[in-house]
Amino acid sequence: MKIAVLPGDGIGTEIIAEAVKVLKALDLKFELETAPVGGAAYEAAGHPLPESTLKLAKEADAILFGAVGDWKYDKLERALRPEQAILGLRKHLGLFANFRPAICYEQLTHASSLKPELVSGLDILIVRELTGDIYFGQPRGKRTATDGAFPGAEEAFDTMRYTRPEIERIAHVAFQAARKRNKKVTSVDKANVLETFQFWKDIVTEIGQQYPDVKLDHMYVDNAAMQLVKAPKSFDVIVTGNMFGDILSDEASMLTGSIGMLPSASLNSKNQGLYEPSHGSAPDIAGKGVANPLATILSAAMMLRFSLNQEAAAQRIEAAVQKVLAQGLRTPDIHSAGTTQVGTAQMGDAVVKALA
Ligand code: NAD
Repeated sequence: MKIAVLPGDGIGTEIIAEAVKVLKALDLKFELETAPVGGAAYEAAGHPLPESTLKLAKEADAILFGAVGDWKYDKLERALRPEQAILGLRKHLGLFANFRPAICYEQLTHASSLKPELVSGLDILIVRELTGDIYFGQPRGKRTATDGAFPGAEEAFDTMRYTRPEIERIAHVAFQAARKRNKKVTSVDKANVLETFQFWKDIVTEIGQQYPDVKLDHMYVDNAAMQLVKAPKSFDVIVTGNMFGDILSDEASMLTGSIGMLPSASLNSKNQGLYEPSHGSAPDIAGKGVANPLATILSAAMMLRFSLNQEAAAQRIEAAVQKVLAQGLRTPDIHSAGTTQVGTAQMGDAVVKALA
């Protein structure tokens, strides 16, 4: 088994170091190979996703990814910005299905910005389509407006689009995931305004007929954003497009206490996957040794489960994370009165110790 390790920028290097520590402590046989990505790769090779990094990612059984981006690259042309690396990996590897579980650990109910009774026992799964929608749709760019409120003015535009097979395959992924959980799918759209999402809704409904044991309902994205903070436990699996999923999964992260707790998996049709925390490179705390590594460590557990067929090892990591939380250890983002504040490396060490 070969794992490509791509730490990236900012806190990416700090949190990946902890996840690698945990993986090495498992005593499993795999090869870990590290390569630069994002701003680090731009500095080293002049491109955020160099050919050598892409080749390693393609050959690996799984990719463990940190985070990319830094404000200092905001003035670079778009194709050279660090964020293009993650978009490029998703596209080149066909990673269309993004799983973002939002689980509120019992010990962290007080770290959530919502009342404990709203989040206690929360366990929802957001299935986000990852390679289509307005983030990839062509054409896009800048031009002179020929109509609208200001003809002749400079304008920018993007294209929202989905093909039938793209919607069908993500719908299947969501229904199959729901079958292993509480058998409920909420498809989130904006069918009242957007053609693309009326099409989405119709196709998800069609696919739903193949899963009579799973309850399907539909919700507009604005209402879904509201329900996520009003009654988050009313959801089981949420399936939605790339942009809505991006926004809703960050919202869901706050239910769990911190974005530093939220892992993710992005899979292609061969079960090859990229595993990363849901957060970014957090330049505001980079280099301070305070980032929460648990989202990345839990992403490594998802990697063992989905791409490397090591369910027992995945469960060992998840149990170890529960144990350190029960011991009262907290990085600053989840710290509250009566708990012990630790840094990134101390948290990683504690998880390794708890594996025993
Ligand atoms: P961010 O997720 O990096 O940070 C948002 C806030 O959450 C910050 O206050 C940060 O300190 C905090 N935070 C994030 N991760 C944390 C952790 N593990 N522990 C404790 N606190 C944590 O989002 P942003 O500030 O909007 O973006 C920063 C950079 O990251 C940008 O360049 C952006 O493009 C990039 N980004 C990259 C990815 C990715 O690599 N997949 C995803 C999102 C954003």
